[in-house]
Amino acid sequence: LLSIEAVSKRFGDFVALRDVDLDVHEGEVVVVLGASGSGKSTLCRCVNRLETVDSGRIVFDGRELPQEGAALAALRADVGMVFQSFNLFAHKTVLENVVLGPTRVRKVPRSRAVEEARALLERVGVADKESRHPAELSGGQQQRVAIARALAMHPKLMLFDEPTSALDPEMIREVLDVMVGLARDGMTMVAVTHEMGFARRAADRVVFMDAGQVVETGTPEAFFTDPRTERARDFLSTIL
Ligand code: ATP
Ligand code: MG
Repeated sequence: LLSIEAVSKRFGDFVALRDVDLDVHEGEVVVVLGASGSGKSTLCRCVNRLETVDSGRIVFDGRELPQEGAALAALRADVGMVFQSFNLFAHKTVLENVVLGPTRVRKVPRSRAVEEARALLERVGVADKESRHPAELSGGQQQRVAIARALAMHPKLMLFDEPTSALDPEMIREVLDVMVGLARDGMTMVAVTHEMGFARRAADRVVFMDAGQVVETGTPEAFFTDPRTERARDFLSTIL
Protein backbone atom coordinates (compact mmCIF):
# COMPACT_ATOMS: atom_id res chain seq x y z
CA LEU A 1 0.00 0.00 0.00
CA LEU A 2 2.83 2.37 0.91
CA SER A 3 6.34 2.21 -0.43
CA ILE A 4 9.04 4.59 0.74
CA GLU A 5 12.09 4.23 -1.47
CA ALA A 6 15.49 5.75 -0.69
CA VAL A 7 13.93 8.88 0.73
CA SER A 8 16.17 11.66 1.96
CA LYS A 9 15.17 14.96 3.44
CA ARG A 10 17.30 17.83 4.67
CA PHE A 11 16.57 21.04 6.48
CA GLY A 12 19.40 23.32 5.37
CA ASP A 13 22.58 21.40 6.14
CA PHE A 14 20.86 19.08 8.55
CA VAL A 15 19.94 15.65 7.21
CA ALA A 16 16.63 14.66 8.81
CA LEU A 17 16.07 11.52 6.70
CA ARG A 18 18.84 9.56 5.04
CA ASP A 19 18.04 6.96 2.42
CA VAL A 20 14.96 5.61 4.18
CA ASP A 21 13.28 2.50 2.74
CA LEU A 22 10.03 1.25 4.18
CA ASP A 23 7.18 -0.81 2.74
CA VAL A 24 3.84 -1.06 4.45
CA HIS A 25 1.43 -3.68 3.17
CA GLU A 26 -2.32 -3.51 3.33
CA GLY A 27 -3.56 -4.45 6.79
CA GLU A 28 -0.11 -4.19 8.31
CA VAL A 29 0.62 -2.34 11.57
CA VAL A 30 4.07 -0.78 11.73
CA VAL A 31 5.37 0.89 14.88
CA VAL A 32 8.17 3.43 14.43
CA LEU A 33 10.51 3.93 17.34
CA GLY A 34 13.54 6.11 17.87
CA ALA A 35 15.05 8.80 20.03
CA SER A 36 13.93 12.41 19.85
CA GLY A 37 15.17 14.00 16.62
CA SER A 38 15.66 10.70 14.79
CA GLY A 39 13.23 11.72 12.04
CA LYS A 40 10.02 9.89 12.95
CA SER A 41 7.70 12.87 12.57
CA THR A 42 9.48 14.03 9.45
CA LEU A 43 8.86 10.62 7.91
CA CYS A 44 5.15 10.79 8.74
CA ARG A 45 4.93 14.32 7.38
CA CYS A 46 6.54 13.25 4.11
CA VAL A 47 3.96 10.48 3.69
CA ASN A 48 0.99 12.83 3.63
CA ARG A 49 3.10 15.44 1.96
CA LEU A 50 3.19 18.03 4.68
CA GLU A 51 6.88 17.94 3.74
CA THR A 52 8.41 17.33 0.33
CA VAL A 53 11.26 14.86 -0.05
CA ASP A 54 14.62 15.89 -1.54
CA SER A 55 15.34 12.55 -3.17
CA GLY A 56 13.86 9.10 -3.44
CA ARG A 57 10.17 8.53 -3.88
CA ILE A 58 7.03 7.61 -2.01
CA VAL A 59 4.38 5.50 -3.69
CA PHE A 60 0.97 5.28 -2.06
CA ASP A 61 -1.81 3.09 -3.40
CA GLY A 62 0.00 2.52 -6.66
CA ARG A 63 0.89 6.12 -7.42
CA GLU A 64 3.70 8.46 -6.60
CA LEU A 65 2.60 11.16 -4.17
CA PRO A 66 0.82 13.98 -5.98
CA GLN A 67 2.30 17.46 -5.89
CA GLU A 68 -0.79 19.61 -5.60
CA GLY A 69 -4.43 20.24 -6.40
CA ALA A 70 -7.24 17.75 -6.31
CA ALA A 71 -4.91 14.75 -6.28
CA LEU A 72 -3.16 16.06 -3.17
CA ALA A 73 -6.51 16.68 -1.47
CA ALA A 74 -7.47 13.10 -2.33
CA LEU A 75 -4.23 11.81 -0.80
CA ARG A 76 -4.88 13.72 2.41
CA ALA A 77 -8.37 12.24 2.51
CA ASP A 78 -6.99 8.73 2.09
CA VAL A 79 -4.30 9.12 4.76
CA GLY A 80 -5.70 9.83 8.21
CA MET A 81 -3.32 11.53 10.58
CA VAL A 82 -3.49 11.79 14.35
CA PHE A 83 -0.95 13.98 16.11
CA GLN A 84 0.28 14.41 19.64
CA SER A 85 -1.76 17.60 19.95
CA PHE A 86 -5.32 16.79 19.13
CA ASN A 87 -5.86 19.56 16.58
CA LEU A 88 -9.64 19.56 16.87
CA PHE A 89 -11.61 22.56 15.67
CA ALA A 90 -12.11 24.40 18.96
CA HIS A 91 -15.23 26.29 17.95
CA LYS A 92 -17.11 23.29 16.66
CA THR A 93 -18.88 20.60 18.62
CA VAL A 94 -17.51 17.09 18.79
CA LEU A 95 -20.10 15.90 16.29
CA GLU A 96 -19.33 18.73 13.86
CA ASN A 97 -15.61 17.96 14.08
CA VAL A 98 -16.32 14.47 12.77
CA VAL A 99 -18.97 15.48 10.22
CA LEU A 100 -16.95 18.27 8.59
CA GLY A 101 -14.47 16.25 6.50
CA PRO A 102 -16.93 13.79 4.98
CA THR A 103 -19.46 16.49 4.01
CA ARG A 104 -16.91 19.00 2.68
CA VAL A 105 -14.28 16.76 1.13
CA ARG A 106 -16.09 13.51 0.37
CA LYS A 107 -19.40 15.25 -0.43
CA VAL A 108 -21.31 12.82 1.76
CA PRO A 109 -24.90 13.98 2.40
CA ARG A 110 -25.14 15.55 5.85
CA SER A 111 -27.68 13.13 7.25
CA ARG A 112 -25.53 10.16 6.37
CA ALA A 113 -22.37 11.86 7.65
CA VAL A 114 -24.10 12.56 10.98
CA GLU A 115 -25.28 8.99 11.26
CA GLU A 116 -21.82 7.67 10.56
CA ALA A 117 -20.16 10.19 12.90
CA ARG A 118 -22.41 9.01 15.74
CA ALA A 119 -21.44 5.41 15.07
CA LEU A 120 -17.75 6.34 15.12
CA LEU A 121 -18.10 8.34 18.35
CA GLU A 122 -19.81 5.30 19.82
CA ARG A 123 -16.96 3.09 18.67
CA VAL A 124 -14.31 5.28 20.34
CA GLY A 125 -16.44 5.64 23.47
CA VAL A 126 -17.37 9.33 23.44
CA ALA A 127 -20.91 9.21 22.02
CA ASP A 128 -22.26 11.07 25.05
CA LYS A 129 -20.05 14.09 24.27
CA GLU A 130 -21.28 14.84 20.77
CA SER A 131 -22.70 18.27 21.65
CA ARG A 132 -19.70 19.38 23.69
CA HIS A 133 -16.79 21.48 22.51
CA PRO A 134 -13.26 20.07 22.57
CA ALA A 135 -12.19 22.20 25.55
CA GLU A 136 -14.86 20.49 27.67
CA LEU A 137 -13.29 17.07 27.09
CA SER A 138 -10.33 15.35 28.71
CA GLY A 139 -7.20 14.87 26.64
CA GLY A 140 -7.96 11.21 26.13
CA GLN A 141 -11.49 11.99 25.01
CA GLN A 142 -10.22 14.66 22.60
CA GLN A 143 -7.72 12.26 21.12
CA ARG A 144 -10.44 9.65 20.60
CA VAL A 145 -12.55 12.29 18.83
CA ALA A 146 -9.51 13.05 16.66
CA ILE A 147 -9.30 9.36 15.76
CA ALA A 148 -13.03 9.27 14.95
CA ARG A 149 -12.61 12.35 12.79
CA ALA A 150 -9.81 10.71 10.83
CA LEU A 151 -11.78 7.47 10.45
CA ALA A 152 -14.82 9.34 9.14
CA MET A 153 -12.89 9.89 5.90
CA HIS A 154 -12.52 6.14 5.38
CA PRO A 155 -8.74 6.40 5.11
CA LYS A 156 -6.72 3.62 3.53
CA LEU A 157 -3.86 4.33 5.91
CA MET A 158 -3.75 5.82 9.39
CA LEU A 159 -0.67 7.66 10.60
CA PHE A 160 -0.27 8.20 14.32
CA ASP A 161 2.49 10.49 15.57
CA GLU A 162 2.91 9.99 19.32
CA PRO A 163 -0.85 10.07 19.91
CA THR A 164 -0.55 9.42 23.64
CA SER A 165 2.53 11.37 24.63
CA ALA A 166 0.59 14.46 25.70
CA LEU A 167 -1.80 12.43 27.84
CA ASP A 168 -1.95 11.61 31.51
CA PRO A 169 -1.25 7.95 32.24
CA GLU A 170 -4.85 7.04 32.99
CA MET A 171 -5.94 8.34 29.58
CA ILE A 172 -3.26 6.61 27.58
CA ARG A 173 -4.91 3.25 27.95
CA GLU A 174 -8.25 4.29 26.51
CA VAL A 175 -6.59 5.73 23.39
CA LEU A 176 -4.36 2.69 22.95
CA ASP A 177 -7.37 0.40 23.27
CA VAL A 178 -9.04 2.23 20.39
CA MET A 179 -5.85 1.86 18.33
CA VAL A 180 -5.57 -1.83 19.13
CA GLY A 181 -9.20 -2.28 18.08
CA LEU A 182 -8.46 -0.58 14.77
CA ALA A 183 -5.44 -2.77 14.22
CA ARG A 184 -7.51 -5.89 14.90
CA ASP A 185 -10.12 -4.68 12.41
CA GLY A 186 -7.44 -4.70 9.74
CA MET A 187 -6.63 -1.00 9.42
CA THR A 188 -3.25 -0.32 7.84
CA MET A 189 -1.34 1.74 10.36
CA VAL A 190 1.98 3.47 10.85
CA ALA A 191 2.30 4.54 14.46
CA VAL A 192 5.10 6.49 16.05
CA THR A 193 4.81 5.55 19.69
CA HIS A 194 6.97 4.50 22.56
CA GLU A 195 4.16 2.51 24.10
CA MET A 196 5.70 -0.93 24.19
CA GLY A 197 2.41 -2.45 25.25
CA PHE A 198 0.82 -1.27 22.03
CA ALA A 199 3.75 -2.47 19.94
CA ARG A 200 3.58 -5.90 21.53
CA ARG A 201 -0.20 -6.20 21.28
CA ALA A 202 -0.73 -4.79 17.82
CA ALA A 203 2.40 -4.34 15.73
CA ASP A 204 3.33 -6.69 12.94
CA ARG A 205 6.66 -4.94 12.61
CA VAL A 206 8.77 -2.50 14.54
CA VAL A 207 11.03 -0.02 12.75
CA PHE A 208 13.81 1.60 14.73
CA MET A 209 15.18 4.93 13.50
CA ASP A 210 18.36 6.66 14.52
CA ALA A 211 19.77 9.89 13.09
CA GLY A 212 17.40 9.86 10.11
CA GLN A 213 18.04 6.26 9.15
CA VAL A 214 16.13 3.05 9.56
CA VAL A 215 18.61 1.06 11.60
CA GLU A 216 16.62 -2.00 12.45
CA THR A 217 13.33 -3.61 11.55
CA GLY A 218 11.75 -6.79 12.86
CA THR A 219 8.91 -8.31 14.81
CA PRO A 220 8.20 -6.65 18.18
CA GLU A 221 9.18 -9.91 19.85
CA ALA A 222 12.59 -9.99 18.16
CA PHE A 223 13.25 -6.29 18.54
CA PHE A 224 12.41 -6.04 22.23
CA THR A 225 14.04 -9.25 23.35
CA ASP A 226 17.03 -9.32 21.04
CA PRO A 227 17.87 -6.00 19.36
CA ARG A 228 20.72 -6.48 16.91
CA THR A 229 22.36 -3.06 17.04
CA GLU A 230 24.07 -1.21 19.84
CA ARG A 231 22.00 1.87 19.12
CA ALA A 232 18.76 -0.05 19.50
CA ARG A 233 19.97 -1.56 22.77
CA ASP A 234 20.89 1.90 24.08
CA PHE A 235 17.51 3.24 23.05
CA LEU A 236 15.60 0.40 24.67
CA SER A 237 17.49 0.85 27.91
CA THR A 238 16.22 4.43 28.08
CA ILE A 239 12.56 3.55 27.63
CA LEU A 240 12.09 0.17 29.28
P1 ATP B 1 10.58 13.57 18.56
O1 ATP B 1 10.63 12.21 19.19
O2 ATP B 1 11.20 14.58 19.44
O3 ATP B 1 9.21 13.94 18.07
P2 ATP B 1 11.32 12.98 15.81
O4 ATP B 1 11.99 11.67 15.66
O5 ATP B 1 9.89 13.06 15.46
O6 ATP B 1 11.56 13.50 17.29
P3 ATP B 1 11.64 14.98 13.79
O7 ATP B 1 10.60 15.90 14.29
O8 ATP B 1 11.33 14.19 12.57
O9 ATP B 1 12.14 14.01 14.94
O10 ATP B 1 12.92 15.85 13.53
C1 ATP B 1 14.13 15.29 13.02
C2 ATP B 1 15.17 16.39 12.99
O11 ATP B 1 14.84 17.32 11.98
C3 ATP B 1 15.28 17.16 14.28
O12 ATP B 1 16.64 17.36 14.58
C4 ATP B 1 14.58 18.46 13.98
O13 ATP B 1 15.19 19.51 14.71
C5 ATP B 1 14.78 18.62 12.50
N1 ATP B 1 13.64 19.31 11.90
C6 ATP B 1 12.38 18.85 11.83
N2 ATP B 1 11.57 19.72 11.19
C7 ATP B 1 12.35 20.77 10.86
C8 ATP B 1 12.12 22.01 10.17
N3 ATP B 1 10.92 22.33 9.70
N4 ATP B 1 13.18 22.83 10.02
C9 ATP B 1 14.40 22.51 10.47
N5 ATP B 1 14.69 21.37 11.13
C10 ATP B 1 13.69 20.51 11.32
MG1 MG C 1 8.20 13.64 16.48
